[in-house]
Amino acid sequence: MAVPKRKTSPSKRGMRRSHDSLSIESFQECPNCGELKRPHNLCTACGHYNGREIVSVEG
Ligand SMILES: [Zn+2]
Repeated sequence: MAVPKRKTSPSKRGMRRSHDSLSIESFQECPNCGELKRPHNLCTACGHYNGREIVSVEG
C-alpha cells in the first residue's frame, strides 16, 4: 500500500484548505413576487423567470 513519506506540514495543510471555505450564496429579489431567489434561476415561490411564468405553482 502506498504511504506518504512525510507528514503534511501545517503550512501545506493550510495551503490545501485555503480553497475549502464555502462562499456565501448570492440572492436577488424576484421582480414578479419580491421573494428572494438565486440569480439565473427561476423563482421557487412563483415559478417566474425573465418576466414570464415557466412553472405554475399550485396553492
Ligand atoms: Zn417570484
